[in-house]
Parts: sequence; structure tokens; C-alpha cells
Amino acid sequence: LLLLAESDAGTLPWDLVPVQLDQVVGKAVEMFAGVAEATGVELTCGRVQPVLVQGNGNRLRQVINNLVDNAIKFTGMGGKVTVELTQADETRDVVLSVRDTGPGIAPEDLPQIFERFCRGDKSRQRGPMTRGSGLGLAICRGIVANHGGKITVESKVGAGTTFCVRLPGTPRDAELR
Ligand code: ADP
Repeated sequence: LLLLAESDAGTLPWDLVPVQLDQVVGKAVEMFAGVAEATGVELTCGRVQPVLVQGNGNRLRQVINNLVDNAIKFTGMGGKVTVELTQADETRDVVLSVRDTGPGIAPEDLPQIFERFCRGDKSRQRGPMTRGSGLGLAICRGIVANHGGKITVESKVGAGTTFCVRLPGTPRDAELR
């Protein structure tokens, strides 16, 4: 909540430093391997390009962890979660995507999914899916905004959900050496 309040006030005291985002992605996927296996979810990396961004490594890790955690949690047994990281050739814009084959998000829930304490219909029902505060995506949005980026979601009920984090472009890793 403090992070969200500071984000609102535009007073987040972060130094942005070069972060090797592919390594953060790799570590997150590694860290969630056990949870995914225990949940019966196939968690894999798709295309992961070497990408350097100006950012706060811990906060970016928090965003990735949150999206992967949600994807595993809501997809459940028999589902697939795929993480990708790409950088556009021309604009250098970076896109991190977390795609799942889960239940999807109802169209009426989508517009407020990034609002504080928002929890989709499925999540309010009783059962193992109820774990959560409804703050995760609001925090993700705050962190991404603080990096000058944008977080978006596409979802189809019964088919799955994809969250995309777009961060401003920086030169390719190789170009900095
Ligand atoms: P929490 O997970 O604590 O409920 P979040 O802010 O992380 O809160 O997510 C808000 C709501 O968005 C969730 O309660 C759920 O309804 C929906 N949601 C988030 N990620 C997914 C996903 N990958 N698949 C389906 N629903 C999701």
C-alpha cells in the first residue's frame, strides 16, 4: 500500500539502473518450477531475448513474479504458462508476456482488473482459488508506470489470458559493450 501511495504521489525514490531482464525472467521461471509442478501446470519460457532495461531490478522481479504466480494459480491442473521476452528491432521497446491457458477473465471484470482490491468473479468464490488480496495487479501497474511503461491484458473466457508489460526501449545488450 505504501508503494501504491508513493506511486500515486509520484515520489517513488528509485534509482533506475541497467537491469538484465532476461536473467530476472529466467530466475522467476526457475523459482516457480516447483510450484508449477505441484500445481500440475507446465511452466516454460518461449522466446527470451537478451534484454537490458533501465529499471529497478527488485521491483521488476516483483512484477514478473506476480504475473507468473497469478498465471499458475488461476490456470491450475493441466494448464500451460508461457513466459516470453522480446525487444523490437526498430523502437527497441521491450515486451514481457505471460500467457496462460487458464479460465480467462470475464469481459465485465477486465476494465477494472488493475484497480486496487479488484478480484474477479472466480476468485471471490470459495475454494483454493481464493488466496489473494486483489492488490497484485495494481502494484504491478504502479511499478510498470514508474518505469515509463504500460501493462495490458488480453483474455478470452475458457481459452486463457495474456498479460503484456511494455517498457521503453534501450539499446541492445550487445550494443552497449
Ligand atoms: P489476487 O491475485 O490477489 O486476487 P490480483 O490483483 O493479482 O489479485 O488479480 C486480480 C484479479 O484478476 C484476480 O483475483 C483474478 O480474478 C484476476 N486474474 C489475474 N490474473 C489472472 C489470470 N492469469 N487468469 C485469470 N484471472 C486472473
